[in-house]
Amino acid sequence: MHLSEKAKRLIDLENRYGGKNYAPLEVVLTKGQGAKVWDVDGKEYLDFLSAYSAVNQGHAHPKIVAALTEQASRLTLTSRAFYNDRLGEFEKWLCELLGFDRLIPMNSGAEAVETAMKLARRWGYDVKKIPENQAKIIVCEGNFHGRTLGILSASTDPASRGGFGPYLPGFIVIPYNDLKALEHALKDPHVAGFLVEPIQGEAGVVVPDEGYLRCAACMCKSAGVLFIADEVQTGLARTGRLLACDHENVKPDVLILGKALSGGVLPVSAVLSSNEVILTIRPGEHGSTFGGNPLACAVAKAAVEVLLEEKLAERAERLGRIFRAEIEALKSPIVEKVRGKGLLNAVVIKPHGKNQKGNPKTAYDLCHELADHGVLAKQTHVHTIRFAPPLVITEAELSHGLSVIKQVISNSCV
Ligand code: PLP
Repeated sequence: MHLSEKAKRLIDLENRYGGKNYAPLEVVLTKGQGAKVWDVDGKEYLDFLSAYSAVNQGHAHPKIVAALTEQASRLTLTSRAFYNDRLGEFEKWLCELLGFDRLIPMNSGAEAVETAMKLARRWGYDVKKIPENQAKIIVCEGNFHGRTLGILSASTDPASRGGFGPYLPGFIVIPYNDLKALEHALKDPHVAGFLVEPIQGEAGVVVPDEGYLRCAACMCKSAGVLFIADEVQTGLARTGRLLACDHENVKPDVLILGKALSGGVLPVSAVLSSNEVILTIRPGEHGSTFGGNPLACAVAKAAVEVLLEEKLAERAERLGRIFRAEIEALKSPIVEKVRGKGLLNAVVIKPHGKNQKGNPKTAYDLCHELADHGVLAKQTHVHTIRFAPPLVITEAELSHGLSVIKQVISNSCV
């Protein structure tokens, strides 16, 4: 990849002064609009990552930016020491839209997951009457719920977890998409919740069998265990429904949202549930200085309105079918699998050929080639490329992106 002096200088600055907890593709972005982004040298790209599904509404969506600037010039942060004129309106609107009694607003996805885990434990003690300090949460192998110590205690990914012990106790890990394992784990009377991603995004867009979520939710109900859906990545129109759980008409007991809740404009997350669950946490027992700030509420309401007004779930469903059909039709010997729902898709790449270092080419090498040709995507683990463009991507843009992806895959085989 050719880098200008300007790009090199900016990359060097990050490398010199920043933590090395990421390994970005060497593209330095400065502007975004809809599904397109531009680098500091003016090169245009199609964004096929959407900041890991945070920018579902597209970059710089005018309605969201207008809500941001209008609110930013009036009132941004009050803390929860006081009421503000945005939070209650937003809570009512989102709860009524999604059919929940209440919500707790937070900022990052990880904070919302932590909130949900605290709620599950507290509900387990106060309502289910689990003996003190015995509450457990069932999680799945291959999960990704964020990066905090609590969450990585539930992780099975050595890269997330390794070297950060001691870990928080109280998790039971079962295989994903395995109802027998869930049935067995639910026999433990100290289980308070089952925390699950409707599709495992970071694991490589792993889609469970049809019926899995429905049966899992049913089994949780019979066992008196909270079904907690982490829809931080799958939620808000990405998979072709407003929530991925809607594909199976499942209403979770606890719903976790983040990322696209603000259209990628600022960190906004939320946990939605019933009075019975949410009210187990009382004043002083949980919170965040920024959670529920008026700026976030104004932006989040506009962001969700955009999803509904522009029918982005329907769009994701339709364009996602085109994406998968076209990659499958390529019948490339290096494509092991294409999977996904809506516009959350992954292509699994077989190791093939040789890269510049003389090693077999992997998803990582293909992502570099895609970037060279103006399509930004990122590998997840070694063999999988996740393709998740903003849902506002036009059919012409999708078609152009697909032609680049197909060309790069085809050229990579030879
Ligand atoms: N949960 C899921 C399913 C995610 O995919 C992610 C992030 O990728 C998170 C939680 C964590 O969100 P954040 O990075 O905003 O903390």
